[in-house]
Amino acid sequence: MISQISKDKLGPKYASMKEPIEACVHCGFCLPTCPTYSTMGDEMNSPRGRIFLMKETLEGKIDPSEIDPFIDNCLGCLACVTSCPSGVEYGELISPYRSWSEEQRKRGTLEKLQRFALLKTIPCPDRFRAASKIASVFKPVAPYLPKSFGAMIELAPSQLPEKQEFDPIYPANGTRRGRVALLIGCAQQALAPKINQAAINVLTRNGIEVVVPESQGCCGSLAMHIGASKEAQAAAKKNFEAFPDDVDAIISTAAGCGSGMKEYGTLFAGADEEIADQAKAYSAKVQDVCAYLDAVGFAPPENSEAPPIKVAYHDACHLAHAQKIRSAPRKLLQSVPGIELLEPAEWEICCGSAGSYNIEHPDTAKELGKRKVKNLMATNPDVIATGNIGCLTQIEFHSKDSEKPVPVVHTVELLDGWSPGR
Ligand code: SF4
Ligand code: SF4
Repeated sequence: MISQISKDKLGPKYASMKEPIEACVHCGFCLPTCPTYSTMGDEMNSPRGRIFLMKETLEGKIDPSEIDPFIDNCLGCLACVTSCPSGVEYGELISPYRSWSEEQRKRGTLEKLQRFALLKTIPCPDRFRAASKIASVFKPVAPYLPKSFGAMIELAPSQLPEKQEFDPIYPANGTRRGRVALLIGCAQQALAPKINQAAINVLTRNGIEVVVPESQGCCGSLAMHIGASKEAQAAAKKNFEAFPDDVDAIISTAAGCGSGMKEYGTLFAGADEEIADQAKAYSAKVQDVCAYLDAVGFAPPENSEAPPIKVAYHDACHLAHAQKIRSAPRKLLQSVPGIELLEPAEWEICCGSAGSYNIEHPDTAKELGKRKVKNLMATNPDVIATGNIGCLTQIEFHSKDSEKPVPVVHTVELLDGWSPGR
């Protein structure tokens, strides 16, 4: 395929799209691991098909509106990147493409309203809490509402845990071996603040001082994922100011946030030099909690009384595919006495959560969620572990009808000595 796309024409903001388009040799090795190809079965909903469609559109041969449905169907899971033998960086194509196409798109009122609701509630824990309360009242009428509004209400938790405040600094236990800043996240902060608490416990117990910047906010990953790059940039800039420079790493406990923050270089491509450099410096410090602990050395919790537990590990796409982190969480879990690690089939296939995908595409998300739960439950676990709040919520939601539902926890909770009934 000879591309007619000129970087000059695209401009610096979108120049990264050219490389993946030209690197794709159309071999099709990525097709079996693509969840939309696997569920929908057509070329246009495969990575190869989407790359071709984006190329044709950027070359001006197809109107962007004609390919919108196929681009929207993509979960951005990046399983295609893991399975591509030619090293096609699909992530460097789909994110800027979504942002580019968003600039020319005319959305209907209902769609605009839904995106507005998503961008104004999920990134803000207080609004998210209030919206969840309202949603719980409307649960009985959810099936009668427009599909994605219904899904938003159906997926909203009926009850949320107590709001938790964090101290600005948690000193290391014993000799200080490092100093990190923790991103507490937005949806996670409302849905499961215990995950951040577990991360603080594990890090400090392992000699790491933890700073929790008070004025931090959402990292912007959700907005980035749906092509709302202005909102994503505004969120990122707020955190550039909020996070201190004198830390060894910026720790994320949510795979989606970690991978989004590592993409700030692409998000700010073409921005003025000072902010682009700031974005690159910030991104370079971002580390997933398990990868960081594995690198600095992790001592398992002393929990000799805890009974042995079988843990089915779910690879979050934004950890396994986007950040290439698969061995660190497994290694850490296996070092905890009493944990037996179980590996489900189809590890590479997305669970259907994917940011706001389960709200915008509820049918596909449901099919993928049920398939994931079936594979996880087939291992006969006592507990399911994963490194992303979105996956955790999706798996929990779709496993509630299982014959014997099991708890779903974040990996770091197990590293903090979680055991059934604790
Ligand atoms: S595996 Fe890679 S090169 Fe082959 S079709 Fe997929 S993206 Fe293109
Ligand atoms: S990101 Fe995921 S859904 Fe999108 S094309 Fe790649 S494998 Fe398919």
